[in-house]
Amino acid sequence: MDSVNGFDIIECASCGFKHIVPIPSFEELQEIYREEYYSQEKPLYLERHREDLDWWNVTYSERYDTFEESAGLDQRRLLDVGSGPGFFLLHGQQRGWQTLGIEPSKQAAAHSRKLGVEVVENFLTEQTAQDLGRFDVVHMSEVLEHISHPKEMLQLVKRLLTPKGLLCVVVPNDYNPFQYALQSECGYEPWWLAPPHHINYFNFDSLSRLLSSCGFEVILQEATFPIDIFLLMGENYVGNDALGRQCHGKRKEFELNLEQAGLREIKRGFYRALASQGLGREVVLFARPVSGRHEIL
Ligand SMILES: [Zn+2]
Repeated sequence: MDSVNGFDIIECASCGFKHIVPIPSFEELQEIYREEYYSQEKPLYLERHREDLDWWNVTYSERYDTFEESAGLDQRRLLDVGSGPGFFLLHGQQRGWQTLGIEPSKQAAAHSRKLGVEVVENFLTEQTAQDLGRFDVVHMSEVLEHISHPKEMLQLVKRLLTPKGLLCVVVPNDYNPFQYALQSECGYEPWWLAPPHHINYFNFDSLSRLLSSCGFEVILQEATFPIDIFLLMGENYVGNDALGRQCHGKRKEFELNLEQAGLREIKRGFYRALASQGLGREVVLFARPVSGRHEIL
């Protein structure tokens, strides 16, 4: 598909999704995510997350609503894989969920502890999964694009879920139709490619297929705001942090106005409609383990 920073992005027939080659080793990733990621790659991430917390909490509240509406959840035990700064865990804890995060970044884990939420400071692997227990919900946001073997990760996650459990996966929606238009009509280079941090490039179809192949049934798909719509309207925020922040502010305002007007369900319907057209900056899928194929950990 493309070549960036010495990596090729391929449409891999055997994996069923796009990824870079060569695929970085687990050792290389350990280096990045334990120490460097939040200090070097995302130095403003924690600060901005705090600044945007009212807006994030609307999104979090919708996700927990979906978990709670999902019939058959026995209890409210949630695991957040790649829990980052810990705000998603805190939101759940405040509404009565028993939450646990697993997060390799030293800085992010320390931040989470300060919030008073429980976090295992590590990667999710066969070994670390042993001691975690079983969960009614596993949440995994902005994780699968970063890891070398997403299929193995999903198979592992399936064993951590109760038979009626729910998985919520969020990944960037890459090579989407708006990005295609920006490349073909407006001369954009593929700015969303970020190797070695982003190894895998999913869309609604490829992530759904991957989940099915790991024994999950997708029950709901939603998009997040198609932020690249600003580029199509002539606001080129690529490499322009101030303008990017401004566009992000407009997106927040759009969503918060709908929220305050009591139109949350209309907004979610709008995002489900975008998802059905393959649009949205991120793919958000809710899935259940297919019954009868559940393995015992
Ligand atoms: Zn492959």
